[in-house]
Amino acid sequence: MVAVLREADRTKKMELGMRRITFIGLGAMGKPIAERLLQAGYDLTVFDVNRDSMAPLIAVGARESASPKAAAEHAEAVFTMVPDARDAAEVALGEHGVLHGIRAGTYYVDMSSIDPITTRRVGARLAEAGAKVIDCPVGRTTKHAREGKLVLMIGGDDVDINAMMPVFEHLGDTFIRCGPLGNGTATKCVNNYVAMACNAISAEAFVIGKKAGLTPEHMLQVFSSTMASNAQAVQVYPQFALAGNTEPGFMISLGHKDLRLAIELAHRYDCSVPVGQATMDIMAKAVEAGLGRKDCSSLLLMHEKAAGTTVRLTGARG
Ligand code: NAD
Repeated sequence: MVAVLREADRTKKMELGMRRITFIGLGAMGKPIAERLLQAGYDLTVFDVNRDSMAPLIAVGARESASPKAAAEHAEAVFTMVPDARDAAEVALGEHGVLHGIRAGTYYVDMSSIDPITTRRVGARLAEAGAKVIDCPVGRTTKHAREGKLVLMIGGDDVDINAMMPVFEHLGDTFIRCGPLGNGTATKCVNNYVAMACNAISAEAFVIGKKAGLTPEHMLQVFSSTMASNAQAVQVYPQFALAGNTEPGFMISLGHKDLRLAIELAHRYDCSVPVGQATMDIMAKAVEAGLGRKDCSSLLLMHEKAAGTTVRLTGARG
């Protein structure tokens, strides 16, 4: 829970220049990011189609808004963090979208993991209205979001990015400048392509190992010491599926969406995707099995069921 905003914090931000920030999309990732901006002293306006998700932020000092258009009207920077490309386009360009409220000179920062084609199409429309557009998808987990330790993959004009850095520094500890607008989301596409393949293969490996008589503790110890090391296996699985925790984290449906975006991008450039397609098929199966809203590591549950076993750390809750 964030502390109610102190007037001294607001004043501190006024000294820095930028004060009024709007944040649209307050889900698993957007909410902790918005909370950090509020904690840092910005004058925060929020919007989400799910009104319930605005309540915790309103309770600690954020202003509620009725639409993306209204939320953008008085902002100096508008942040968006919504699930998919069509959501990002709707927020920006829809009937009550940001485009109809944003003023010339306002920064528009889309943190959603979407495809670079949509980023550039939406960005061009907003730029016509005078907005300074940056794409800034993030890496790591909701825990990192709460701690301000995300990786930011930033695309756009360097001058605009420099101007936003004092704000970004509240959100992350690693800032990767990816190039022009759209290169942030392109980077995120290929990043999650790798991450989801690691996720899928790790789920299979834990079940194979268990059937062969190994404990997850033993497997984790080895995976984290060898070339098999990957953050899905050694960081995500112990916190989620191996601990009996299927609450996201990062939902299977979002991982599935990211793979779809990466594969569409690959097709656009005539690149082959055999491993990515196999991963995508497994994730589609998990969505069909009703696991879409579970954490990505819950692929483990499907393999456990098929193999007739469970893989849990000692002391796991379920
Ligand atoms: P989420 O589904 O938990 O939250 C999305 C939020 O956006 C919801 O509150 C939803 O009501 C809102 N929303 C959807 N359409 C909207 C619209 N048109 N207008 C206003 N609000 C709208 O998803 P999330 O986990 O917060 O992910 C958001 C983005 O961040 C996704 O692109 C995801 O891939 C990316 N991401 C998530 C994680 C993670 O660990 N959760 C990590 C990195 C990146």
